[in-house]
Amino acid sequence: MSNKEKRALTDAQVHELAGDLIGTCDDIDECLPEGITFDKLTHVDFSLLDDEVMRCEVCGWWVESGLIDDEGKCDECAEPDDE
Ligand SMILES: [Zn+2]
Repeated sequence: MSNKEKRALTDAQVHELAGDLIGTCDDIDECLPEGITFDKLTHVDFSLLDDEVMRCEVCGWWVESGLIDDEGKCDECAEPDDE
């Protein structure tokens, strides 16, 4: 038995996908490599992608994971709104 988790993307493909998404508000399925469909992705693929880029829950743009706060907001959306 192998305890290797199933995944659809290689490390390189995850990295490439992250690079395509960052700075856009595209959906993941628009940027997948040929032959891969969204429903083939596993939680392993998503967690690897999460390590690189995350989508801001407020504005919907992909930014580097390190720039997303605990609430899933990017830098700009996390600015306190104190008019
Ligand atoms: Zn945002």
